Amino acid sequence: MEEANKEVSGTRSLNFLEEIIESDLASGKCDSIMTRFPPEPNGYLHIGHAKSICLNFGLAKKYGGKTNLRFDDTNPVKEDTEYVDSIKDDIRWLGFEWENERYASDYFDQLYEWAEELIRKGLAYVDDQTQEEIRAGRGTVQTPGIESPYRNRSVEENLKLFREMRDGKYADGEKVLRAKIDMAHPNMLFRDPLMYRIIHAHHHRTGDKWCIYPMYDFAHGQCDSIEHITHSICTLEFDVHRPLYDWFIEKLGIFPSHQYEFARLNLTYTVMSKRKLLELVKNHFVSGWDDPRMPTICGIRRRGYTPESIRMFAEKVGVAKREQLIDLQLLEWCARQDLNERSNRYMVVQDPVKLTVTNWEPGKVEWFDAPLNPADPEGPSRKVPFTGEVYIERADFMEEPPKKYFRLKPDGEVRLKYTYIVKCQEVVKDAEGNITEIRCTYDPTSRPGAGEWRSVKGTIHWVSIMHARELELRIYDKLFTEPQMGSIPEGKDYKEYLNPESLTYGKGYAEPALLEDNSGIAVQFERVGYFFKDPDSTPDHPVFNKTVSLKDSFKF
Ligand code: ATP
Ligand code: MG
Repeated sequence: MEEANKEVSGTRSLNFLEEIIESDLASGKCDSIMTRFPPEPNGYLHIGHAKSICLNFGLAKKYGGKTNLRFDDTNPVKEDTEYVDSIKDDIRWLGFEWENERYASDYFDQLYEWAEELIRKGLAYVDDQTQEEIRAGRGTVQTPGIESPYRNRSVEENLKLFREMRDGKYADGEKVLRAKIDMAHPNMLFRDPLMYRIIHAHHHRTGDKWCIYPMYDFAHGQCDSIEHITHSICTLEFDVHRPLYDWFIEKLGIFPSHQYEFARLNLTYTVMSKRKLLELVKNHFVSGWDDPRMPTICGIRRRGYTPESIRMFAEKVGVAKREQLIDLQLLEWCARQDLNERSNRYMVVQDPVKLTVTNWEPGKVEWFDAPLNPADPEGPSRKVPFTGEVYIERADFMEEPPKKYFRLKPDGEVRLKYTYIVKCQEVVKDAEGNITEIRCTYDPTSRPGAGEWRSVKGTIHWVSIMHARELELRIYDKLFTEPQMGSIPEGKDYKEYLNPESLTYGKGYAEPALLEDNSGIAVQFERVGYFFKDPDSTPDHPVFNKTVSLKDSFKF
């Protein structure tokens, strides 16, 4: 753990992207750095995106640069403003602010101009082949492709046809614009890649202005270039696209942005593709994008994870050049680290049994000061009411305990946290032999702060029955039963691995101060774990989501 902490506080060695940036700044290749985060607004962001956000914004911050938020909205069919808004919320929640909010669609005019420029240079042509013909003509890695019969159209004809495509003369799929490179190129992406396709669809920003839309490869690099992005960071699967990214920039002679790839983040027991997450939402396997079991940023937030813990997680995951599957427990560990330091403590009993203090004056209420965080005993506190009838956890009493059982047992003593020591005198049972009441006496001299401190081995949490507030608890477990969801057997559907016990409901009885908590972050239920108030809560029906348990089984 020591090592890990040090890493977070910034004494680790540079990652490969930091090395590149430092060398680019030192050599004068660039005076300052500019990065971008380029989400496609076709779904909610997930923890993988959070990694990319922390990286892009984090690098710019570290080196005094800036980061643009650029929506990659080149496919009008799948995109929506609902997603745009959620993406912005999520980035801000993570603690980052972008320099400019841009859209690939802001550049459609410029991209169109550049497409005509490539046509004029003899580097692009309109192809009438069907999608299947184009695919077949591309060849395979072993065999070269064959040239399209339309490949040698004149510049004039290409310009005329491309303009007609733009003007809506053709139906979807009737024609495409392709770059004219090399149908035998060893990199398949160079075998005359598509630049534009026809899609007669309403775009969430440009409306019906366009019916041709640029492909990723013809849009991304040029958008980077327009924004003078110095370091365009993306995930590993784009490394084969990099030469094409460079090719377009070179042929157009525009600002030389460069692309760098890092390994995408995968997490155990979950799926990360937006398509699958959308399917889980649409088929009601979860309650929505922000279901606390989802790996989405809004789900994680609703679960009670803090932005600090996500940023810590991103830092610990680091930047790798090879695919990585990260243990979900690392994320939980980060949440515990952060919440342990900052969260307020309250006592909540989940499986209650009544404890009666027989020598307590009936009806008397005594209020105790309890620190909100034990790390700061002099800091803010809450008031906890004590009475002669309290709930304790059923598991904190044993009639026939093993040796070294320090909780309550017949004739045994235990401290009720923040208050008195009580001694068990009698156990009351119902006809079936279930314990219904534990009768104790309290020791008035054991009041904390009063005279000599007498210590007992066990301290347990409790709640005054008269003051207890009932809570609905939602207890979450892994969304899937299989750690490596990326490598499930062929022919199996990922949905077959959904964990039927990923959500269970419980009840809790809380000390009253919990309901007044306004810290805005998850709280600790003492001795149990961290819980975060759910937006489904009403004043009469508080609901708390379990963020993570206290227990930490994670070994680095
Ligand atoms: P998905 O495959 O989950 O739908 P995507 O890559 O299509 O994700 P985009 O909206 O295109 O999603 O991604 C925006 C940025 O986030 C890209 O730069 C992408 O590389 C990065 N990103 C997406 N998923 C991950 C991940 N799992 N780990 C790290 N970065 C990611
Ligand atoms: Mg994508």
